Amino acid sequence: MKPEPDYDVAIIGAGFAGIGMAHKLRRAGVDRFVVLERGEAIGGTWRDNVYPGCACDIPSHLYSYSFRQNPAWSRLYPAQAEIRQYLADCVDAFGVGDSIRCGLTVTRAEFDERQGFWRVELDNGESLTTRALVSAVGGLSRPSTPEIEGLASTAVPVFHTAEWDETCDLAGKRIAVIGTGASAIQLVPQVAKVADKVLVFQRTPPWVVPKFDRPMRRWEQWLMRHIPGSQKLFRALLYWRQEILGVGFTLSARLMAYGRYQARRHIRNSITDPELRDAVTPDYEIGCKRVLLSDDYYPALERDNVELNTHAVVRFQPDGVVDADGQMHAVDVAVFATGFNAVDPLSPTRIFGRGGRELADVWESGPEAYLGITVTGFPNLFLLMGPNTGLGHNSVIFMIEAQIRYAVRLIRALKSDRNCELDVKPEVQASYNKELDSAFAGSVWSSGCKSWYQTAAGRQFALWPGFTFTYWFRTLRPRSRDFNRSAHSGG
Ligand code: NAP
Repeated sequence: MKPEPDYDVAIIGAGFAGIGMAHKLRRAGVDRFVVLERGEAIGGTWRDNVYPGCACDIPSHLYSYSFRQNPAWSRLYPAQAEIRQYLADCVDAFGVGDSIRCGLTVTRAEFDERQGFWRVELDNGESLTTRALVSAVGGLSRPSTPEIEGLASTAVPVFHTAEWDETCDLAGKRIAVIGTGASAIQLVPQVAKVADKVLVFQRTPPWVVPKFDRPMRRWEQWLMRHIPGSQKLFRALLYWRQEILGVGFTLSARLMAYGRYQARRHIRNSITDPELRDAVTPDYEIGCKRVLLSDDYYPALERDNVELNTHAVVRFQPDGVVDADGQMHAVDVAVFATGFNAVDPLSPTRIFGRGGRELADVWESGPEAYLGITVTGFPNLFLLMGPNTGLGHNSVIFMIEAQIRYAVRLIRALKSDRNCELDVKPEVQASYNKELDSAFAGSVWSSGCKSWYQTAAGRQFALWPGFTFTYWFRTLRPRSRDFNRSAHSGG
C-alpha cells in the first residue's frame, strides 16, 4: 500500500485567501486540510495593520466574499476593525475554525518526488505531509524598514505601521512619519488630532483623489437585508464602476487625464498654501504608483501642528532624526510607513520543488508564475495572490476568488487520481509571462516611476495588467493541456 499523506491540502495563512480557500475546499468535499497561521489569530493583513485610521480603499460591499455578503457594513469603505470582525464571522459561518492552527510558522516545504507529496516543517519542530500545498500568505505581509544610520542606537521608539505599538501613547508627542503611501495618508490625519507635532517625511508625493467615504444609511442597510438581490445589484454596480476606472490603466495612459484633473482639483480645493500645493503635486504619470483615496490627508497637512518635509531622513540621533538638508528634528516617536517587501512574500518559509530547486532561487530575478497560481517545477503547489495578480483599480477579493476556484478544481483532480502530480509546463509559463511583459510595455505602470510593483531591475511582477473579468475568464477552468500530469513512483 502506498503511504497516504497526513492531509490532502495544507494552506499557509489564515487571511482572506486562506479562509476562503478552506471554505471552498470543504464545499468541494475536500475535508482533509489544515490551515497553518503564523499569527496568534486569523485575519492576515487586517490583524496586523492596527495603526490609527487603517481602512480599505475599496468599497465594503466589494471588499468581501461574493459567497458571504454582509448587509450590515457600517461605512461605504470599511475600517480595519470591521473587516477583521467580518473575517472572524466568516470563519464561524463556514465552520472552518477547527482546521486553523495559529501560532505556527511554516519554515520549510519540500516536494518529495518519491512519494509525490509535500513535506512541511513547522517552527515548533513538527512536520506533516500533504498532497497539495497552498500559499495564502498575501503579497504585503512583510514590513519593509529602511536601514538608516543610527537606527539601532536611537532612544526614540520606532515602529512600522504594520507592527503598530499599541502601548505607545501618541498624545502630546512629536511624531515623525516616514513615507507618504497608502498607510501614511490614513495615519497622518488621525495622529495629527492628538499629537503635539507631526513631521511627515515625503520622498515622492502620491496622487490622491477624494474618497467620498460616508456611513451607510439605515435605509440602505434595510434594503440590502430585506430586498432580495439588492445587495448583489449594489455590488455589481460597484464592480463595474471600479472596472471602468481601470480603463485608463489598461487601455491608454492618455485616458488618465481625467484622473489627473480630479487629483489636481483635489489639491486646489483642499490646500491653500501654494508652496504646500507644489510640494504635494507629483511629477510622474497618475496611476504609475497606486492612486490613493483620501478626504482628510490634504486638510491634515494644512494643520498648524503638521509639517511636510520633502527631504529624506538620513540619520537617527538619540533624540530625533536628521534630514538630507542637515536639519535635526527632535521627535518622541518615529513611524515607518515605508511599505512592504512584496518581491519575496514567502520568506522566511523556504520552498523546494523538483530536483531540490528552491523557489527563492528560481525567483531570483523576480517572482513569476502561470496565472499567478502555479510555478513550473513545483507540482501541486498553488499560490493565492501570487505574482501579477495584484490590482490598482478593483477588489483583490475578486481575484482571490478566481484563484480559489481554479486551485480547487485542480485539487479535486488530484484527489480523484492519487498518483497524479500537476506541474505547469515550462513553455506555458514562459509564454504567459512574455504576454504579461508585452501588456506592461507602454502601460502607465511602465511610464517611468519607481514603485513596489516592480523588481529592482524594473520588471512588473505585482499587478495584473488588464480588466479583472479577463482574469476571471482565463481562470474559469484549468486547461489540462497546460500541465504535465506525471505519476510518481510511490513506495
Ligand atoms: P507604500 O505605498 O509602498 O508607501 C511607502 C512609502 O514609504 C512611500 O511614500 C515611499 O516613498 C516611502 N519609502 C519607502 N522606503 C523609503 C525610504 N527608504 N526612505 C524614505 N521613504 C521611503 O506602502 P504602504 O503605504 O504601506 O502601502 C503598501 C500597499 O499596501 C499599498 O500600495 C496598498 O496596496 C496596500 N494598502 C492598502 C490600503 C487600502 O486602503 N486598501 C491601505 C494601506 C495599504 P517612494 O514613493 O518614494 O518609494
